Amino acid sequence: MNSMENHYLDLSKCNHSSWEALQKPAEILRNGGLVLFPTETVYGLGANGLDDLAVKRIYQAKGRESDNPLILHVSDFSMLPSIVKDISPLEKKLLTAFWPGPFTLILPHTAQVPSSVTAGLSTVGVRMPSHSIARWLIHYAGVPIAAPSANVSGKPSGTKLSDVQEELLDKVDFMIDGGECDIGLESTVVQVIDDIPHLLRPGKITPEQIKSICGKVIIDPHILGKTEDDVPILSPGMRYRHYAPNTPCLLVCSKDNQKKVAKIKELKQHYLRPLILCSSENLADYSSSLAFSYGSQYNLEEVSHSIFHLLRQVDSYQPDMVFIEGVAKEGLGLAIMNRLLRACEFQVIEV
Ligand code: AMP
Ligand code: MG
Repeated sequence: MNSMENHYLDLSKCNHSSWEALQKPAEILRNGGLVLFPTETVYGLGANGLDDLAVKRIYQAKGRESDNPLILHVSDFSMLPSIVKDISPLEKKLLTAFWPGPFTLILPHTAQVPSSVTAGLSTVGVRMPSHSIARWLIHYAGVPIAAPSANVSGKPSGTKLSDVQEELLDKVDFMIDGGECDIGLESTVVQVIDDIPHLLRPGKITPEQIKSICGKVIIDPHILGKTEDDVPILSPGMRYRHYAPNTPCLLVCSKDNQKKVAKIKELKQHYLRPLILCSSENLADYSSSLAFSYGSQYNLEEVSHSIFHLLRQVDSYQPDMVFIEGVAKEGLGLAIMNRLLRACEFQVIEV
C-alpha cells in the first residue's frame, strides 16, 4: 500500500450520505485490488471473486493454505445466478430466512467461479452480509467479493480495524474503518446434503434457528472435535490451526461455575505469570492475577463481540500460560466454544 491517506476511509461514525465514498474502493476491487472492509461478523479481506489473479492475492496476503476455499459475498439475490446453480426449495428457504446476515450456504457453483475461490471443489460458499458498508461496497463493485476474515492465517480474526491494520498494511490496496464489528465471530456455515442442513461452522445463526426453519439440522462432529488426517471432512477449514495466541492456552469447562473457578485458581499456582480470560461475574475471584473479562456468561452476545480482540491482546502481556473459562455449548455458546477450543489447540479440562 502506497500512501495511507489516499487509501483509507473512516466510516466508523458515518451517516447515509457517506456511502458514495465507497465508489473508490469498489473500483479498486473491480480492478483486481485488495480491500479491507467491515462486516457484521468480522473484518473481511476482499477481492473481485470472479478474478482469479485477484483472488490468489488474498491467499498470499494471509499466508492461507490454497486448499482452504473462500466465501463469495453478494449484495443482493440478483448476483446469485452468475455464481451458483441448482438451489433447492429448502436452500431457498434458508436464504430467505437468514439473508442478509451472518449465514453462509455451500452451493454448487457455475463455470464463472474461478477454482482459486473454491480450492477446486464443485461447491462454493455464498453469503449476503447485512452490514451497510459491506453491502454498498459490493453493490458498487458490481461483482461478488471473495472475502475471508482479515487476519494473517492462524491468528484470531479482526473485529476492529486497529487489530489487523498493522499485519495487513503492506498487503492491501485500501482500508475501510467501520468501527467495531457487531457480532465478532465469523458466519454460520451450512451445507444441505440429502435435504438435511449440516452445520459446518457454528456462528450467530444457531442450530436451533436452523431447525426452526427446516425441522432438522445435523451438527458436524468436527465442530467441537479434532480432525484426523485419515477421516474425510466436509469443510477444509476444519483442519487448520485457528485463532491461537502464541502463548499456550487451556480451556477450563464445568457446568458448576464455582468448580471452574476453583480449578483455574489451583492450576494457575504452577505458573509465574498466568493470564485468565473469564466471565465478568468471576473477575473478582481472580483479583490477585492478570485477569480480563470477556463479558457476562449470561450474555453470550457480549462474549462473542469481545473474544477475538482479547485473544489478540494476550501475548502482549507476556504470560506463561493462559486459562480461559468455557461457556455452555448451547445457542451462540456453540460458536464461542468452537473458536475457544481451536485457540487452545484442543487443550481442555472438564471438571
Ligand atoms: P473464512 O474465509 O476464514 O471465513 O473461512 C471460510 C470457511 O468456509 C472455511 O472454514 C472454509 O473451509 C469453509 N468453506 C468455504 N467454501 C467451502 C466449500 N465449498 N465447502 C465446504 N466448506 C467451505
Ligand atoms: Mg478466517
